Amino acid sequence: MFPAAAIPELRRSLLAWYGQQGRDLPWRQTRDPYAIWISEVMLQQTQVQTVIPYYQRWLERFPTVEVLAIADLNAVLKAWEGLGYYSRARNLHRAAQQIVTEHQGRFPESATAVEALPGIGRTTAGGILSAAFNQPQAILDGNVKRVLARLGALPLPPARAIAQLWQWSEALIDPDQPRDFNQAIMDLGATICTPRKPVCDRCPWSFACAAYNTQMTEQLPLREASSPIPHKQIGVAVIWNDRGQILIDQRKPEGLLGGLWEFPGGKIEAGESIEDCIRREIQEELGIAIAVGDHLISVDHTYTHFRVTLHVHYCQHLEGEPQAIECAEVRWVEPTELSEFAFPKANQQIITAILKSKVQ
Ligand code: SF4
Repeated sequence: MFPAAAIPELRRSLLAWYGQQGRDLPWRQTRDPYAIWISEVMLQQTQVQTVIPYYQRWLERFPTVEVLAIADLNAVLKAWEGLGYYSRARNLHRAAQQIVTEHQGRFPESATAVEALPGIGRTTAGGILSAAFNQPQAILDGNVKRVLARLGALPLPPARAIAQLWQWSEALIDPDQPRDFNQAIMDLGATICTPRKPVCDRCPWSFACAAYNTQMTEQLPLREASSPIPHKQIGVAVIWNDRGQILIDQRKPEGLLGGLWEFPGGKIEAGESIEDCIRREIQEELGIAIAVGDHLISVDHTYTHFRVTLHVHYCQHLEGEPQAIECAEVRWVEPTELSEFAFPKANQQIITAILKSKVQ
């Protein structure tokens, strides 16, 4: 725990550091709660440098909450393509509709109303309300958890001390400059109090930091013992018909990657060959018979809780009309039309391989 008597100096020193060292980020140029909300959601699981071009393109494409609310979901997912965690985009779309119907298009200003919107938890609500309206609402994103866990030498992994960390964040926030304070502590975590090798000799909080003053910065925050993440092997089919078109399917709206388009396939069962898996999955999911042909590409991808390897084969449609048995929709498309659909990141490499093999 850091001493309560140190709080005024912690605020003052952090704000002074921020005045000199704070990052110049596009969403700090605005007080528009809509734009700030978009940035906060994009930043939930994505690095700042990746977010910047997406944020700028998004505001050109959907400049207001009204424009977003009436947009087609496929266009929203397309604008999000490559950012991952697509439920964020679907929630933005739904929340925009809610803001228009329930709040007359005005972004709500109470924490309760903001947290009632899809995809907005307490820290995102705090980030938006402090940045847009200068409200003294605490935040607790990954950077802030790490900084506070070190500052107060938290004796538990952060995930097991969330209430304590919220209490520290609330105690520290500067009631007169909450906007700058929250931005500053996020910057401190991103640029000085980094996960590995924090730069304590340039930190405005080293004078009160329990981790620094007990040489514990390498050990804190404490980590949970981690178990290895599962690795799934997936057979994937790029199915051609005799008109030179490829079959793609749209995932159901709920769940991982919901609403995105993909090449059909599924998990390889124990003892099953890739070819047998592909034939079985396509019969079960789309109700058609195919001939499995050459291997096109294998793609590795890591999600938060598991890894996948996609084993992709070219296939030929033999018989049957494709049906959307396990998905929302199926379509035959020209290879050149693939870029019009929103695909998960792992599928982008497959598209590149298809287009390359067509050129050769
Ligand atoms: S002194 Fe070091 S460990 Fe402590 S808050 Fe600053 S950068 Fe983080």
